[in-house]
Amino acid sequence: VPELPEVETVVRQLAGELPGLEILDVVVQRPDLLREPVSSFRTGIRGRSIESVSRRGKNILLALSGSSLLLVNLGMTGRLLHGKGIERQGPPPYLGVRFLLGGSGPLLYTDVRRFGHLLRYSQEEWGEESRRLGPEPLDPELTAGRFHSLLQASRSPIRSWLLDQTRIAGIGNIYAAESLFRGGIHPTRPANDLSMVESEALLRGMRSVLQEAILARGTTLRDYRTASGEEGGFGPTLEVYGREGEACRRCKLPLERIVFANRSAFLCPRCQPEST
Ligand SMILES: [Zn+2]
Repeated sequence: VPELPEVETVVRQLAGELPGLEILDVVVQRPDLLREPVSSFRTGIRGRSIESVSRRGKNILLALSGSSLLLVNLGMTGRLLHGKGIERQGPPPYLGVRFLLGGSGPLLYTDVRRFGHLLRYSQEEWGEESRRLGPEPLDPELTAGRFHSLLQASRSPIRSWLLDQTRIAGIGNIYAAESLFRGGIHPTRPANDLSMVESEALLRGMRSVLQEAILARGTTLRDYRTASGEEGGFGPTLEVYGREGEACRRCKLPLERIVFANRSAFLCPRCQPEST
């Protein structure tokens, strides 16, 4: 499932390719990816040019001319593809939406399971929507003190807190697990139980893993691809996610998998003690 580093990778690539291009037309093969009729979506998009490409949480934002905005959320298996070679062997499988661009190859949205979506907003509507999301983990304005005070406001298990997009934006199960390992924090600890020192360690761990994963162009477990269709390279660097039974790279103890809130959590029982 694409999280912040995977979405950021797609965004950085598209930000170098799409701005200035006009959307000549859009063909929707899978209307269930939209939250409006195909006809109004098409009318609202066609003829606008792409002004910028950015990210908020796990969302890709295409700012369009006329103060409108197209949000693309990749869901679990979505891909946003652009560039030469994308259609070399014909249209890719599971094509959902095809944007025909002036002076460039098309922009394609594909999605096997179709949990993703494409939504149109006005800039004002999006501003309101964006305020409902938590802060960006890499925003320098998110200081350790502010992070600690946000954690103090919740008794949720810290892993659940990290996954809640209204608390902090962009983290999913992979980077929650990796951040907690780097911070030395057990995933079931209540958020408001973390000391200032622990909050700081978690924030530092989260930022380092996100930045390293962005440099490696994200983690491909199965479905995620960059905008040019390549796999991300961070997978082998994962320290706990998906590694239950294998040795912790720090202390050599076997890593554990526990399940709570219906999802697996991966941890080292020695590096991430349950109580302090
Ligand atoms: Zn360990």
